[in-house]
Amino acid sequence: MDKRPNWDFQEAQDPRVRAVMRRVPRHLFVSENQRALAYENVALPISCGQTISQPFIVAFMTEQLQPQPSDHILEIGCGSGYQAAVLSELVAQVFSIEIDPVLAREARDRLKGLGYKNVTVRTGDGFEGWPEEAPFDAIIVTAAAGKIPAPLVEQLRNGGKMVIPVGPPTEPQILTLVEKTGTSVITRPLLSVRFVPFRRESEM
Ligand code: SAH
Repeated sequence: MDKRPNWDFQEAQDPRVRAVMRRVPRHLFVSENQRALAYENVALPISCGQTISQPFIVAFMTEQLQPQPSDHILEIGCGSGYQAAVLSELVAQVFSIEIDPVLAREARDRLKGLGYKNVTVRTGDGFEGWPEEAPFDAIIVTAAAGKIPAPLVEQLRNGGKMVIPVGPPTEPQILTLVEKTGTSVITRPLLSVRFVPFRRESEM
């Protein structure tokens, strides 16, 4: 099944996000033997024991960032590149960090092959963010962190938003919205979620 079905994705409030979700070919981001399930609202395995999130979660996290056409966005956990592709259709630039070099290479090739020109993928530990490209209008973390990494808060511009699953790897985590305003950082719990754990470079 190389051709995508006519996907009537309804699970986003923002019509722009709904339109992008219907357009990005999710079946080309999952392994070949999972393609039949690509347009179901389920998380699916990708290479290297990692997971591509359920479409509802991708749309929900995207909406929390309130992406604007001029935005520069940082993603931690590129995985298949699917979330980066969705964001890239809504903003000016996406910078995505992936700790696994195999996944990073696959995602870079896939995004290039599909014509996504405004996504830059780098191999590395996302805990430190991407200081050379900071500040970011928004940051999205797609692996579960025990705590909110301080360098990421630092690299968020004033008024910027970050969405990140926070909690232990073995239990549901709390998807958290972080808003930076002036000198204060406000965190708001959004949803209970299950993400693969954030790994550190020292553990690789
Ligand atoms: N957003 C992805 C799915 C992410 S799965 C998609 O749309 O397909 C979580 C990813 O985070 C995995 O690929 C994992 O290798 C990566 N990851 C885990 N710890 C990381 C870290 N410290 N820095 C960067 N990436 C990390």
